[in-house]
This record gives sequence, C-alpha cells and structure tokens, in this order.
Amino acid sequence: MFEIGEKCGIAGVYGSPESANLTYLCLYALQHRGQESAGIATTNGEEIRVVKKMGLVVDIFQKTDIEYLKGFASIGHNRYSTSGQTSLQDAQPFLVNFRFGNLAIVHNGNIVNSFKLRKELEESGAIFQSTSDTEVIIHLIAKSPFNNFRDSLNYALGQLKGAFSLLILKERELYAVRDPWGFRPLCLGKRDDTYFVVSETCALDIVGADYIRDIEPGEVLVITKEGLESWFPFEEEKPNFCIFEFIYFARPDSKIFGKDVYTVRYNFGKRLAMESTTEADIVVPVPDSGIVATLGFSEQSRIPFQLGIIRNHYVHRTFIEPTEKIRHFGVKVKLNPVRSVLEGKRVIVIDDSIVRGTTSRRIVKMLRKGGAKEVHMKISSPPIISPCFYGIDTPTRKELIASSHTVEEIRKYITADSLQFLSLEGMLESIGYSLLDNPFCIACFTGNYPVKFI
Ligand code: AMP
Repeated sequence: MFEIGEKCGIAGVYGSPESANLTYLCLYALQHRGQESAGIATTNGEEIRVVKKMGLVVDIFQKTDIEYLKGFASIGHNRYSTSGQTSLQDAQPFLVNFRFGNLAIVHNGNIVNSFKLRKELEESGAIFQSTSDTEVIIHLIAKSPFNNFRDSLNYALGQLKGAFSLLILKERELYAVRDPWGFRPLCLGKRDDTYFVVSETCALDIVGADYIRDIEPGEVLVITKEGLESWFPFEEEKPNFCIFEFIYFARPDSKIFGKDVYTVRYNFGKRLAMESTTEADIVVPVPDSGIVATLGFSEQSRIPFQLGIIRNHYVHRTFIEPTEKIRHFGVKVKLNPVRSVLEGKRVIVIDDSIVRGTTSRRIVKMLRKGGAKEVHMKISSPPIISPCFYGIDTPTRKELIASSHTVEEIRKYITADSLQFLSLEGMLESIGYSLLDNPFCIACFTGNYPVKFI
C-alpha cells in the first residue's frame, strides 16, 4: 500500500553544536503539521545518527535522545498520514548507508509518480523497507549512473513529479530542495552562524532566527562549512503554491509564499462578509480554525465577534482520529457552547473548510442546544470537490461531501438555517490575484490537477 496524502513539517539546522536541540524546538513549533510520529537525524561529520518514535514531539524525545544526537547539523520531521501504514517503519528521517556514505532524508509533500518509479525499481531488484514514497528518492540516488553525489541527486530529482519539499543530510552537508511547482512551503533563516531551513517561519521564531528568504521553486540549496550554494536542476514550471496552506494548514503567525497567513485568513473573512447578506446578532468562530477569518468577517460586517464555542486545548485535532466513531466522540470532548453568549441569538458561525461535513453538522447542533435561535454556517473557502494528491490530508472523493452534494444539500445535511462558502474568485482576489492569473494550486476546488497523478 502506498502513501497518499501526507502532511508533514520539516526542519533542518546547520552549524551549531546544539543542532539536535534546535531541531527539536523547530519541530515543536511545527507540531500542527503532523502528530503521528517525529524524528531527528544528526551528523557529527563522520556518522549520522537518528532517533524517531511514534507520538508528539514533546512526549517522545528524552534528554538522553538529544545527547545521543550530538553533532553540528540535524534534520527533523513531524509526520501524519491517513492512508498507508501508520507505523514506525514509515516514520522519518530515513537513514541509509550506501555508496555515497550516510544519508538521511525528510520529505513534506507527495510524489505523484512514485507508484510507477517504485514498480520500476522493484523490478530491477530494489528492496523497500517502508510504504513511503520518500524511499523512492533514496533508491534513485543509489541507482544513478553517476559516481558523485550531487550529479546523482540531480538525476534522482529529475525523475520526480509532484510535491516535495526535502531536506537531505550528508556527513558534512545539508541539502534543501523544493519541487519546481513549489507546492509546499520551505524557507531559510539564520541566527549568528547557524542556518535553519524550515516548513514555516513560526519555527524560525521559536529559535530566534531571522527569516532570510523562501527556498525557491525548483531550487536545490546546499549548506556546507563554506556557506551556501544553489542551483536549479529542473525545467521551469508554473508555480502552484498550495492554497490550503493559507486556508487551514499553516499557523497564522507564519509567513509562507511571501505572505502573512494571518492577513490572508483575515481577508478571506472580510471578503466572505462582502459576499454575505445574512442578518445576525453575533458572529462566532469554530475554534481555532475559524478564528482569524471570523475577526475579518466581524470587522467588515460590523456584527459583534463572540466566542460562542470554547475549545478544550488539551484534546488533539478531531480530524486526526482514524475512525468515524472516535471522530464523533472527539468533537464532543473538544468543543463546548457558551449559553450566556448564544441564548436567543441569530448566530453566524464560521469555519475554514468543510471536508466530510461531520464537524459542521455537530457544530450546528451544538449551537442550537446552546440556545441559538438561528444558525448560519459560513465557510472561508470554496467547496472542496476533489481530493489532494500533493500532500494535504483530504479523504477520497467519495467522502468529500461537496463532490456529490449541492450547497443546499449540504445545508440540509448540516441542519443549518443557511450555508455560504467563500467564492473561488473572492478567495483569490483577497490574496491579490484573479482566477485566471494566480500562482496557486486550487485543484481541491476545481478538480484540475496541475501535475497528473500517475
Ligand atoms: P469535516 O468534519 O470532515 O467536514 O472536517 C472539517 C474540519 O476539519 C474543519 O473544522 C477544518 O478546520 C478541519 N480540516 C480541514 N482540512 C483538514 C486537514 N487536512 N487536516 C485536519 N483537519 C482539517
């Protein structure tokens, strides 16, 4: 079975004797990008060591692990995936010892031609240890006709299609790679003489590093003790930054793809209000995913913002629970309505997205039980009609409620008085672009995939 839909956070640190500890901190800041497993690999110049375990960063790493990972450069990974196996075997970093010495790799995204590449590799004798698409990259490097590492890396990268923000650690070098479409974010930071390459800038903040720039789509950047060097081994492609990073996935205190996530989300809310005609007494966010858009909506509509639902922060995201049964249970323990806020009110409630519709249905019922007179659900993104093959964890088409139901049918299902989604044009215009001219992958809203799934 293959991985599809892997959403991850990655971090790399070069040039500090505390590199493992700093990577640990970065992974801690990137925990929202994956909660299933985490790992760190460190080089001391001669040997690469790895520690990876199932669970949250804060729970799994012990002081002794960080001491074991002594070295001047490290890479780390937070992983979560819904399909494929959920075992330590698939946890990253992957560490190998092959003809180019030690190599550790971490990957955020999804390689869409990995099935074909894996089949070809297996037919030529390769043995795989995991179900992950990332392992394909290692085999391609190993099999290359070249006898130096950099040419072999270029040879491997040239065969990949899809989403890959990668960090590769060699004994003395740290490589950062972003696919030519730029699906997933990756940025470079610096503090004193230490370099950082991380999924989101919130990981630079936690270690006090300054943001330098994004790793560009199609760029390979290598950090050595001589400094930075970069090259572009891919054919140029039209950028396809994942719009869902802005909608839901990235932290609002991060800057990705050159924009503040908070500002973008706030503007989605403002635009949603411009497109709305609903009259209401209060506007309430679904915490935490709807909060920033709701603030924007409230400013634009002048409808007072109220916290009508309180979230218990000690329960993990409902979406990550693997079975339907546990997911239902999860919503109940996680969110609670505030009767004094809701009683007798016409309530607008805002969330960032509807995937299966399960959460919205629960929320509407919860608000009515909490005393709301009317419940109007608004979503700060368009209906998701197609699954993601580039690294966002969306379910199959069949499970996506908007792939087979109209807005009115979804409204009925979630039992709301009204339901409104942000328009596709509105979403893109609130980031400063148009439907015809924008640098985003919006395949989940249109079904038009920029890189074909093979
Ligand atoms: P659903 O109940 O399936 O409609 O899920 C919708 C909820 O899941 C919304 O509150 C979103 O904030 C959240 N959500 C959307 N996409 C994802 C994702 N890829 N991973 C985890 N949660 C998500």
